[in-house]
Amino acid sequence: MKKRKIAILGSTGSIGTQALDVIGQHPDLFEVELLTANSQVDLLASQAVRFGANHAVICREDRYDALASALDGTDTKAFAGMDSVCSLLEGENIDLVLTAMVGFSGLRPTLTAIRSGKVIALANKETLVAGGALVMEASRRYHAPVIPVDSEHSAIFQCLLGAPAESVSKIHLTASGGPFLTWPKERIAQARPADALKHPKWSMGAKVTIDSASLMNKGLEMIEAKWLFDRRPEDIHVLVHPESIIHSMVEFRDGAVIAQLGCPDMRLPIQFALAFPDRPALDVPRLDFAQLGRLTFQEPDRDRFPALDIAFTAIRRGGNIPCAMNAANEAAVAAFLAGRIGFYDITNIVAACMDGADFVAEPSFDDLQATHAEIRSRAEEMIGKL
Ligand code: MG
Repeated sequence: MKKRKIAILGSTGSIGTQALDVIGQHPDLFEVELLTANSQVDLLASQAVRFGANHAVICREDRYDALASALDGTDTKAFAGMDSVCSLLEGENIDLVLTAMVGFSGLRPTLTAIRSGKVIALANKETLVAGGALVMEASRRYHAPVIPVDSEHSAIFQCLLGAPAESVSKIHLTASGGPFLTWPKERIAQARPADALKHPKWSMGAKVTIDSASLMNKGLEMIEAKWLFDRRPEDIHVLVHPESIIHSMVEFRDGAVIAQLGCPDMRLPIQFALAFPDRPALDVPRLDFAQLGRLTFQEPDRDRFPALDIAFTAIRRGGNIPCAMNAANEAAVAAFLAGRIGFYDITNIVAACMDGADFVAEPSFDDLQATHAEIRSRAEEMIGKL
């Protein structure tokens, strides 16, 4: 495969650092062109130097001076702010953009990268939840493929290779169940951030770990799958599989089911997206089936985990409602992490904000931005009153 020039948006986060680990295993296949981070100047600067990135952007403009002095005398040029990210993404010198930032703020740079024809390795699921119609329409129009990085969607993508669209009858989207899988409702209600941050199977960033505990992550992923694979929500079946060995499955109309299995290690789906359609070797743990012994499955408990039904309601209502759901969830998760609200307040706030949102049937980017800002401030108001 021809050497790929990579941009990583969010290089200091969990996905970004693991992507650099993968890239470090294949200096013959990948080259780092651009790294961006929200606020972690020191790590961003050391990554840029180690991987020889031509450009590094710190999104928080007040940290520009710190980045510029950290990169003084190196081959990396320092920039700050989202406008810089977007104009660098339009450059000729990038083949593939890994979108690994967290939340709605990823939508604008993702659309910019698509419109300049870059391949997208998509890890920022909120982008598709909020703006799935815009993103997929732009992907078709600008011939910019979107390859999923989320482990479940990478699995589904792999299971679908070579399959005619009409042969697919169902997607089984697997969920570990998170740290509260066996907790009674009364105990979940009292959960603290430290409890929710103890994920049994995956090591991930704080936002997605809290979303996994509430199962909102699976709701976001159901919407992500709907857009990526052009499926109806009712054909996406959420299935709890605590071992996290099967990363998702596709059921075909003849009854055959194809699954993708592997140790829970994000470097595998990251590398798959960076190298697709190639599949180079990767130094990750291997499965030992005899040692595993058995794999188990159960239906999710929609009473203890109301986020799932909230997400199905949001995507059925459509328009800007999933964007509103995501905005409220971003605000509520941040408040929970800060110890300002209880665990079930997250889904209560999300449901209330969704109910109160003004409906826009075919939202433009500006409409989505307005919805996001409006719902975040409404959620903040509710949080303040709790
Ligand atoms: Mg996932």
